[in-house]
Order: sequence, then C-alpha cells, then structure tokens
Amino acid sequence: MSGKGHLTIIGLGPGDPAMQTPQATAALEAATDLIGYGPYLARVPVRAGVMHHATGNRVELDRARHALDLAAAGKRVAVVSSGDAGVFAMASAVFEAIDHGDPALRSLDVIVIPGISALLAVAARVGAPLGHDFCVISLSDHLKPWGVVEQRLTAAAGAGFVLALYNPSSRARPWQMGRCFELLRAVLPGTTPVIFATAISRANESIALATLADADPARADMRTLVLIGSAATRVIERPGAMSWVYTPRRIDAA
Ligand code: SAH
Repeated sequence: MSGKGHLTIIGLGPGDPAMQTPQATAALEAATDLIGYGPYLARVPVRAGVMHHATGNRVELDRARHALDLAAAGKRVAVVSSGDAGVFAMASAVFEAIDHGDPALRSLDVIVIPGISALLAVAARVGAPLGHDFCVISLSDHLKPWGVVEQRLTAAAGAGFVLALYNPSSRARPWQMGRCFELLRAVLPGTTPVIFATAISRANESIALATLADADPARADMRTLVLIGSAATRVIERPGAMSWVYTPRRIDAA
C-alpha cells in the first residue's frame, strides 16, 4: 500500500439535487475517483481530472473491492449510492470487503456520509406516515430467500408496524408485490392505506393512494417505494388535492 488511502461512502439522496446534503457535495468535490452504479454516477457532474468508474448494480462486492484497491493505492475515492448509502446500498458491501479482506485495509480512512433515504422523502411528500413505529423491508429475494421476506412481512404487519417496502418489483421479480398484498390481506383490514410512491423528487415522480383491498401490484416498479399503513394510520381527504396520510404519535393501551 502506498500513501494514506481515503474512502468516502456517499448517499446522494432520492434524486432532486436539493435533497443532496452540502456534506455529500463537499465530499464529491474532494474525490479523485468516483465509483457507483451507472445511473447514480450520472447524477454527479463530471469534473476535469476526476475518474468515473460506472458499474452494473449486481456486483456490489466487486465494486467495493475495486474502491478499496484504489484507496489503498493512495486515491481519494468516493463510492456513491442513491438515498442513504447504508440503506440497502453500498456501505455494507464496503465493510464486508474490509471484514474479509487484507488486514491492512483496516488502516484506511473510511467515512460514511448520510443521505436522505427514499422512505424519508416519500413520507414527507404524503404527510407523516412514519410518526409512530415502523419497519423497513426489501422485497427483493436477490440477496435473501423469499421465505424470509414472507415471514418478516407477516410478523411486522401483525405487530402493528407501518411498513416501508423497498425494491417492490422489477422485470426479473414480477410476482413478489402481488404475493405480498395477498399475505398482508390475511393480517390487515382491507381499508389499510397503501401508498405507491414512484421516482419521488425526480421529474417523473408519481404518487398513488389506494387501500389494501384494491391495491394493484402493477402500480409498483423498481423506482417505487410502497408504504403500508398500520391500524392507527389516518387519511385526511382534501377537496381537489392529494390526501394527507399520517400516523398519530400516540397509541393508547388496548
Ligand atoms: N439506498 C437507497 C435505496 C436503494 S434500494 C435509499 O436509501 O433510498 C432501491 C429502492 O429504493 C427502489 O427499488 C425503491 O424502492 C427505492 N427508491 C430509491 N429512490 C427512490 C425514489 N426517488 N422514489 C421512490 N423510491 C425510491
């Protein structure tokens, strides 16, 4: 290893540059090498002398090792993720690569810079659905068995959590969202509010409010976050405008 390597792991926020923190912007400006999934990297302005290393989104560990190699060679490396880098994103892959890698990697400077995760941007957009206890689950069975997803969904809904579902659907995973609604209908009332929030804070943003009874799985794609209310979650209807959704801060003893 030569020089003192430096690696920053940066959350870019949900899309709108105004939702990228000044700390993230400063860290990007200090980097000599940027690494990330192509579409995320495309959000960072190109600057002279800065290398962009774009990769596919299924090779997180390879990308993490590449970032660590560059940092070990003395570069100032920034690994970028959308939202927050620690939420279903690159930060864990970097620490996993350090954990199982050359012990010398442990003397690198590694800094994680938080970002606004999709669930926070979505919640703010619709009101205050996360005002009480909530649970965050990825519906992707790419990195865990589908049986674990089913078990967690049923347990979390049964325990009264509001659910925030990341990675609800994609071309390679077309049936998971429908199966999820089937499972939840067995535990929750049909009137439970369901929010489909797609590409929040980006130009093609869309939001739809449904009930669990009539929620259409086809409404979700890979840019969608799905929020499922709890029994306490309320919808405030408004004439000619989108309803607000909130979960009260207080739940009284049953
Ligand atoms: N690290 C990211 C999550 C990456 S997983 C974060 O903290 O937000 C990718 C999933 O995030 C998508 O399938 C979708 O469920 C959600 N997501 C990311 N950006 C989003 C946005 N702008 N609007 C809605 N959901 C989004």
